[in-house]
Amino acid sequence: MDVQRIVIKVGSHVLTENGTIAKMRMLSLVELIVTLKAHKYEVILVSSGAVAAGHTLLPLDRENIANRQALAAIGQPLLLKMYQEKFSKFDILCSQVLLSSDVFDSTEHIDHAKVAIDTLLENDVVPIINENDTVSIEELVFGDNDRLSAHVAHHFDARLLVILSDIDAFYDKDPNRYDDAKRRAVVTHITQEELNAEHTPNNVFATGGIVTKLQAADYLMKRGREMFLASGFNLSDVKALLVDGEHVGGTLFKA
Ligand code: ADP
Repeated sequence: MDVQRIVIKVGSHVLTENGTIAKMRMLSLVELIVTLKAHKYEVILVSSGAVAAGHTLLPLDRENIANRQALAAIGQPLLLKMYQEKFSKFDILCSQVLLSSDVFDSTEHIDHAKVAIDTLLENDVVPIINENDTVSIEELVFGDNDRLSAHVAHHFDARLLVILSDIDAFYDKDPNRYDDAKRRAVVTHITQEELNAEHTPNNVFATGGIVTKLQAADYLMKRGREMFLASGFNLSDVKALLVDGEHVGGTLFKA
């Protein structure tokens, strides 16, 4: 079987619980990545959660952007330490790659970053990417790494971006507000109206909402790549798709 490169993005809502890092969920995510690696996937992880991790050490007011930058700087090493501990249970090395959005404006910088990512993956190391929030606050302010992960998938040549969210799929309307919302299993086109819909992040640490996920999906579909939106609380849908090839739940965006 050919090795398939994929990017998995996990949002802050999934990784945090009551203001701290949700350790069991992080372990489940690490176990998923270990399973996928055994099934011939190369996995790049894009992880939020640095601000929440920092907040457990120094409870600054998160409403303030400068404080969030500071919290990300404090929390990023702690977040990576937690990942390292969990991956080491499986004898797997992980690594930290901090990117700012302007990296993707320069082919030279993209090439440098890709060489590093390729080398990590060739050596069986899991790259864990996050925005470098001290120099670039785009995703910290808005996006929660949804956009960053789409750039990562495209420029580092992954076939598929998996977004693990607090929501288990894309619905025809917000399922947290409408009981009769219906899941869209496969989406082949995203309308302008959907792309311009109101941003409704629903958690103090999260800054994305469904719109930045649709923007990520649109960006990737226009470039011949795919995106899968599934639950980060229950990983059975993503396992079914990637390990068993069965699309049970979640939304596949595929042009
Ligand atoms: P995460 O923190 O996991 O990245 P967000 O909480 O930022 O995710 O965004 C997902 C939220 O978007 C859902 O909890 C849901 O309330 C909201 N939402 C709005 N419209 C929709 C829709 N059509 N389908 C799915 N979720 C939607």
